[in-house]
Amino acid sequence: MSALILDGKQIAALVRAEWKLRAEKLTQQGTKPGLAVIIVGDDPASALYVKNKIKACNETGIYSEVHSFGGSVEQQKVLDCIQTLNQNVHIHGILVQLPLPPQFENNRVITSIAVEKDVDGFHFYNVGALVTGNTVFSPCTPYGVMVMLERNNIAIEGKHAVVIGRSNIVGKPMAMMLLEKGATVTICTSRTRNLLEFTKNADILVVATGKPRMVTAAMVKPGAVVIDVGINRLADGKLCGDVDYDAVKAVAGHITPVPGGVGPMTITMLLCNTILAAERAQSGIQVKF
Ligand code: NDP
Repeated sequence: MSALILDGKQIAALVRAEWKLRAEKLTQQGTKPGLAVIIVGDDPASALYVKNKIKACNETGIYSEVHSFGGSVEQQKVLDCIQTLNQNVHIHGILVQLPLPPQFENNRVITSIAVEKDVDGFHFYNVGALVTGNTVFSPCTPYGVMVMLERNNIAIEGKHAVVIGRSNIVGKPMAMMLLEKGATVTICTSRTRNLLEFTKNADILVVATGKPRMVTAAMVKPGAVVIDVGINRLADGKLCGDVDYDAVKAVAGHITPVPGGVGPMTITMLLCNTILAAERAQSGIQVKF
C-alpha cells in the first residue's frame, strides 16, 4: 500500500483563493485587511518567515507592515509599538515573530496584543477561549492541519488521535482542536514511556517534535493518517520532517510531505485569521467579554 499524499500546497492555494475574495469584498466596503509584524533581532530564519508572510499578504490583498527592532532593544519599546498598533484602525492583526531575544518576557509581550488582533492565537485569553470551545483565533499551524483533514474528508469523530509534542504553538492547541472535533486524544512527549505503544494505536498521528525522521514505519498503524509538522534542515541543506517519509508512506493511509505539507497551510491560516479579524472589525463584532 502507498499512502495518499495530503498536498498542502494545493489546499493552501484553494483556501487562499477563497479568502482573497473575502479580502477584496472587505476592501470594496472600505476596510482593507491589515497585518503588522514585529521582528526583534537578526535571526535569519525569522527574517525569512517574515518575508514570506509579507509576500503572502501582498498576494492576498492584505496590507502589511513590518516593525523591526535590534536584538538589544528594550522590551518597553516593543510594548509601546504594540500599544500603538492596538489603537490603529487600519491594523487588524498583530504578530510578534518568535523567538524573542532572551531578555524578553514572552508572556508579557504576547498578552499586550489586543485579543481581537491576536491572529496567532497565543494570548492567554485566546488560549482559554480555544480550550473552552469558544475559539476566537485558532493558532495557525494546528488550524492548518484541521483544514487539511477537513478538505480531504478525513473523519475525526471517534478516532484515536495521537499528538507527539506539547508545545504551546503546535502540540497543545492541536490536541485541543482534535478533542473538540470528537477525537479521543493522547499527547505524547519526550517523557512518554513506550512511545510505540501509543503511536501504533493511532488512527491519526500528528508529529511535532523537531526530531528528524523520528517516526518510523514500525511505529505507524497500517492505514493511519500521518501528519508531519516538523521542519528540519539537514547537514546537506535539505529539509525533512519528523517522520521517515519514504518508509512510512508504504504503511500509512494518508501522509503529508515535507516540504509541501503543513508548512504552506500555516501561513495561509495567518492570512485567514487576519481577514477574519478585519471582517469582525468592520461588522463591529466584539470577541472579548
Ligand atoms: P518544541 O521544541 O517547542 O516542542 C517539541 C515537542 O516534542 C516537546 O513537547 C518535546 O517533549 C517533544 N519531543 C521531542 N523529542 C521527542 C521524542 N523523542 N519523543 C517524543 N516527544 C518528543 O517544538 P515546536 O512544537 O515548536 O515545533 C515542532 C516541530 O514543528 C519543529 O520541527 C518545528 O520546526 C516545526 N514547526 C513547523 C511549523 C509549520 O508551519 N510546519 C510551525 C511550527 C513548528 P518535551 O516537552 O517533553 O520536551
